[in-house]
Amino acid sequence: MPAPRLRSRSLRRVFRKVPGGRVSLQYKKQRPKTAKCGSCGSSLKGVPRAFTFRMRSMAKTKKRPERPYGGVLCSKCMRQSIIDKARQ
Ligand SMILES: [Zn+2]
Repeated sequence: MPAPRLRSRSLRRVFRKVPGGRVSLQYKKQRPKTAKCGSCGSSLKGVPRAFTFRMRSMAKTKKRPERPYGGVLCSKCMRQSIIDKARQ
């Protein structure tokens, strides 16, 4: 029986093969969810699904696409919002 703190489902279970050939169960943090578009909710491309400590050491250009509203809106919604703004 695992320790009480490990019985929670907030940790994911990873089966790892150890050098002795035995399979051991390791408990890891859940991976963060993918970034979502602020308008339609679809997952954003070009935005890595990484832990914050990894995102902090990453260059800004690697964290979001370099276009207006990059990392906030998907390309479709970005185009539509710019067209809407130009028509007003
Ligand atoms: Zn969108």
